[in-house]
Amino acid sequence: MLEVKDLHVTVEGKEILKGLTLTINAGEVHAIMGPNGAGKSTLSAVIAGKEGYEVTQGSITFEGQDVLEMEVEERALAGMLLGFQYPVEIPGVKNIYLLKAALNAKRAANGQEDIPAPEFLKLVKEKIAEMKMDASFLQRSVNEGFSGGEKKRNEILQMLVLQPKLAMLDEIDSGLDIDAMKVVADGVNSLRAEDRGILLVTHYQRLLDYIVPDKVHVLVDGRIVKSGGADLALELESRGYDWVLEETAA
Ligand code: ADP
Ligand code: MG
Ligand code: MG
Repeated sequence: MLEVKDLHVTVEGKEILKGLTLTINAGEVHAIMGPNGAGKSTLSAVIAGKEGYEVTQGSITFEGQDVLEMEVEERALAGMLLGFQYPVEIPGVKNIYLLKAALNAKRAANGQEDIPAPEFLKLVKEKIAEMKMDASFLQRSVNEGFSGGEKKRNEILQMLVLQPKLAMLDEIDSGLDIDAMKVVADGVNSLRAEDRGILLVTHYQRLLDYIVPDKVHVLVDGRIVKSGGADLALELESRGYDWVLEETAA
């Protein structure tokens, strides 16, 4: 589904990704772990097409399409969706309208008509209940005055409504208490599907107790230096990152 090959990315003249290679197949959950500043957020941002990143070498393809040739909106419509790491507040735009507009844009891109209002309401209410969110949330402005936990839940709610082919989630566990984290993890687990890839960026292992990944990659200094199964996350939790670096150096 997604192939990243020898990706080099520069931010403000500084090389952040230094030859990163990663393949995600449909049906797989990949966790990207690594120390702060390694380039984890940069990777998901570059795939999503955020501004400010310059690809100097390498390629990204999604279902055979050259992602680097696509605009940010095209990427989202093709099914690559990145949740907000630090969601911005958009005063005046109600959450429910944003969700509906995003869903209808996706449908239009697939040659479908707008979703009928009652059908949309039914869908969104179902997903809101799944995320244990209050229905009044839909009438609030986008992220205005949301708590950290609400923002994270909202991020998963968007994914549940929009059903992207590739869901990219960056640090969705940061700042969550254990109960909120379980709700978020349950939401992500319900996104798991044979035709969907999930890219989870996380600094901490604890999220992976609840969302068990198929593959774990250690990203250090702009490169994936080690890959393994879910066990690797546990090993990182108990041993830290230094041994991976020593192994790489050796
Ligand atoms: P991680 O998510 O692994 O903590 P990031 O991808 O956020 O790492 O950042 C990797 C490196 O790139 C860091 O050294 C960071 O300071 C730098 N960086 C990221 N975004 C920017 C930016 N917009 N401007 C300047 N430097 C940046
Ligand atoms: Mg960071
Ligand atoms: Mg980050």
